[in-house]
Amino acid sequence: MNIRGVSLELLDLMCQIAMESHPNEFVAVLLEKDGIIAELNFLPGTTSGESHANLHYDMMPLDPHVAGSAHSHPNGALQPSDADLRFFPSIGRFHFIIGSPYSRSDWRCYHADGTATTMEVIP
Ligand SMILES: [Zn+2]
Repeated sequence: MNIRGVSLELLDLMCQIAMESHPNEFVAVLLEKDGIIAELNFLPGTTSGESHANLHYDMMPLDPHVAGSAHSHPNGALQPSDADLRFFPSIGRFHFIIGSPYSRSDWRCYHADGTATTMEVIP
């Protein structure tokens, strides 16, 4: 499935969850629908803390619609950490980092290999 973009609604939701989770991180799995990243899933057993958020890989759904992941950086950095780079390839192709203060422009999207990619926001 070709991913054409991310829905504005989901982007707003991710920013809102990131804000509500602050100063902790949140992490979620992103799902695409008809080529648009439009939904997120929290996994049972996901833990988060001020400097890390862990997914329980054994709980990962084998869902063909999994597009990637999203997580927040309460310190505002929009670069993937070393741990992020190890984590990205395990789940999908597109990975969002949402940094404090979590406005609509405080995010970046990365490929699984850690290179930044553009992602169209679809209203
Ligand atoms: Zn991170």
